[in-house]
Amino acid sequence: MIIKTTPAPPKSEQLLTWYDNHRRQMPWRSEAGQTPDPYHIWLSEIMLQQTTVVTVGPYFEKFITRWPTLKDFAESCLDDVLKMWAGLGYYARARNLHKCAGIIMGEFGGIFPQSQKQLLQLPGIGPYTAAAIMAIAFDTRATVVDGNVERVIARIFAIEKPLPHSKPLLKELTKSLTPHVRPGDYAQAIMDLGATVCKPRNPQCPLCPWQSSCCARVRGIQEQLPQKLKKPPKPRRHGTAFWLQREDGKILLRKRLPSGLLGAMMEIPSSPWIEATQMSASKIQPADHAPIKARWQKHGSGIVKHTFTHFHLEMTIWQARAGMDTKLTEVADEERCSWVDIKDLDSQALPTLMQKIVNATLRKS
Ligand code: SF4
Repeated sequence: MIIKTTPAPPKSEQLLTWYDNHRRQMPWRSEAGQTPDPYHIWLSEIMLQQTTVVTVGPYFEKFITRWPTLKDFAESCLDDVLKMWAGLGYYARARNLHKCAGIIMGEFGGIFPQSQKQLLQLPGIGPYTAAAIMAIAFDTRATVVDGNVERVIARIFAIEKPLPHSKPLLKELTKSLTPHVRPGDYAQAIMDLGATVCKPRNPQCPLCPWQSSCCARVRGIQEQLPQKLKKPPKPRRHGTAFWLQREDGKILLRKRLPSGLLGAMMEIPSSPWIEATQMSASKIQPADHAPIKARWQKHGSGIVKHTFTHFHLEMTIWQARAGMDTKLTEVADEERCSWVDIKDLDSQALPTLMQKIVNATLRKS
């Protein structure tokens, strides 16, 4: 006779004991028994959106060294913040960080609000980040669900419904497991479990404190979960970057408009980015978007490719020389343009795409 057994529900104490012995060291994480700094938690959580712990570490250290307190950060200049953020991607996060710091200093006396509702009204703070701040910074019983947590919960309860449809259920199940005791440590523990043990591939079940409660492990389907709906392919857009170099070697840079993709970051002046179908329908030639009339020539470095969340981008580089007498007043969008020495390009707020264009051009110049 085969007796089917349902695993016992997972216990938070098991996970907390595991966390006490295996917690990851991170520069923003306080030591056991110490009170976390909400400024550090908020900054790290914003940086970690769409980015890995390994990438964020050095950026976090740089920010905290330059702006040790929230007050220092709120008094910073946005351009400096964008320069420090360059390479981390999703630049709206940096702009919102800066705005948010100003609001906390101006409206909350420099103290982070300890209410999820108030946190949600601040720029750049969505439901996940608000819950993470409430749990980690203030040890409040908030439901923190990131990709790691979704994976652990989907496996523990063997949820076969695919993401994103299963999100509300996974959140509900996560909430049901969250303890009243040490909820902040618990939130970090389950994220650590997902990142280090219950990994997407090859989960280390024999090391898992919840192995005896895991329905997916019992059924041998842990590697198949969580299931995900196939995403539609990303569209491909095309654009042209205009590399204009003056006789003294300086390059023309332009500050992008404050809102939108890569807003307020510096760029090699470029055309709008459009899909091939729009391009062939348009009578406008790439050179029509050039910042100045000149003998533009296609650069021989081929195409620079970059992928954003919603589309792939292919940039062609065109280059031209400008005389020393070329005045910014002759340049389109002159108020946003400046001549920058090649050796100073590293200190500009150039996003990764623009850095790729610089590298491709300098390699072949
Ligand atoms: S037993 Fe395995 S699949 Fe289940 S939660 Fe632990 S590591 Fe993940």
